[in-house]
Amino acid sequence: MDDCIFCKIIKGAIPAEKIYEDDEVVAFLDIKPVNFGHTLVIPKKHYEKMESTPDDTLSAVFTNAKKLIKVIKESMSADFVALSVVGIDVPHFHIHLIPRYFNDNMPVFWPRKEYREGEKEMIAEKIKKAL
Ligand SMILES: [Zn+2]
Repeated sequence: MDDCIFCKIIKGAIPAEKIYEDDEVVAFLDIKPVNFGHTLVIPKKHYEKMESTPDDTLSAVFTNAKKLIKVIKESMSADFVALSVVGIDVPHFHIHLIPRYFNDNMPVFWPRKEYREGEKEMIAEKIKKAL
């Protein structure tokens, strides 16, 4: 993809602080980190979304993310590393690995809703029907 910023990073046309690279995957520091050490893990081949990424490529991305979570937690002295797949920013599948600290004043959880009576069962059925 000629206009994809992540493809440009892979090709070296845009500089990035790469922390890991192999035949299938690249990991580099997010240029505007949520916390320092915020890393993006991406497949080298361009796939727009997780659901359009082949299983073996997903496996390589997540296996490396698992490895990097341990390394980032240790090297950044983080309390934990949040993993997030947002899918609405850059249209090249990527995982965010964000070092988190219990005192970083960011919400650990999203705001939650309550199901009304019978609603939970109805929604579960709706999703299961689409499987
Ligand atoms: Zn791309």
